[in-house]
Amino acid sequence: ASSTWRNVAQGPPVRITEAFKADSFDKKINLGVGAYRDDQGKPYVLPSVRKAEDKVIASRMNKEYAGITGVPEFTKAAAVLAYGKDSSALDRLAITQSISGTGALRIGGAFLARWFPGAKTIYVPQPSWANHAAVFKDSGLTVNKYNYYSKDTLGLNLEMMLGDINAAYPGSIFLFHACAHNPTGVDPTEEQWKKIEAAVKAKGHYAFFDMAYQGFASGDVDKDAFAVRYFVSQGHDICLAQSFAKNMGLYGERVGAFSVVCANQSEKARVDSQIKILVRPMYSNPPIHGARIAAEILNTPELYEQWLGEVKEMADRIITMRALLKENLEKLGSQHDWSHITNQIGMFAYTGLTPEQMDQLAKEHSVYATKDGRISVAGITSENVGRLAEAIFKVKG
Ligand code: PLP
Repeated sequence: ASSTWRNVAQGPPVRITEAFKADSFDKKINLGVGAYRDDQGKPYVLPSVRKAEDKVIASRMNKEYAGITGVPEFTKAAAVLAYGKDSSALDRLAITQSISGTGALRIGGAFLARWFPGAKTIYVPQPSWANHAAVFKDSGLTVNKYNYYSKDTLGLNLEMMLGDINAAYPGSIFLFHACAHNPTGVDPTEEQWKKIEAAVKAKGHYAFFDMAYQGFASGDVDKDAFAVRYFVSQGHDICLAQSFAKNMGLYGERVGAFSVVCANQSEKARVDSQIKILVRPMYSNPPIHGARIAAEILNTPELYEQWLGEVKEMADRIITMRALLKENLEKLGSQHDWSHITNQIGMFAYTGLTPEQMDQLAKEHSVYATKDGRISVAGITSENVGRLAEAIFKVKG
């Protein structure tokens, strides 16, 4: 008998997690996951999140639907966090709650595909978070790449990046990682952002920011929002995807926001109405629990202060692990320059190791990460950093 789905092709397996699970070595190291781990290698729930959640539960709110654009106490506070409390953008901002950062990108992609007046082409950095291209393609945009990372310097290739911005068809969309670029950990400096802004403006391009790590990069939520706020201050009516997965550790709660800076109130009202028209047939309205937790933190001064301290602690632990990894490699006598490990920022380090060396790390040393040489620094602990450095030293020297 013929079956209905006989033409469905098998998708590729998600290899790292499976190989890690199958490995019986008790000192195996998983550097493939994109989630923070504490120094014992355990998932971490922020104490401020526990407190906020207790308050939310104790208040015994009902479970009625949120509106299409979500919990207003959350979206208002999310906007202030991103744009700054004195931002001129706040009262002309169309904003909606989203299914974390991915959902925000997807709503943004769909909104641009339907309403962007220029070329419906979005340029994403090469390399970028693997999901960017898929999200934007499925949203109906054409996806192109711009140069970003230099394999020679293991840093930003600003010249080629600016060249690509200049060469793109005027009025194209450019996706920028606001901070903690994934996968490279390479961010432009503030001076470099100014050059990037000037190039974007000169060609009439449109900037779409993905801010999945605000506070998580430098430990300072304002510093990490520099690029977003700078573009707005220079007159760009940007759009922005925000995630609270990493900076609040709310991964599975799926808390995020998508916002569009508009020229005025009338534009804001029209954009807002069209965002609702997009969201309604996708999922009607977003989940409320995680947004209530985030709102409680952002709107309660003591909880907010506590949270800022906890984000900084996470960022600092990652920065410390970078330094320890470099130090250990040098102690072993490695002749390579490992300063990119400490120059990079955020959850991921781009080691510069080849796919073959990454294979060897997995097969011979039970260290698992993606083939592109990206390791999750969040998976490094005081306990395993020595063994990790030895493994890298053995495969690379
Ligand atoms: N954007 C970037 C650059 C990311 O690295 C991630 C998560 O890894 C996301 C967006 C979205 O994550 P989430 O949907 O969990 O908020």
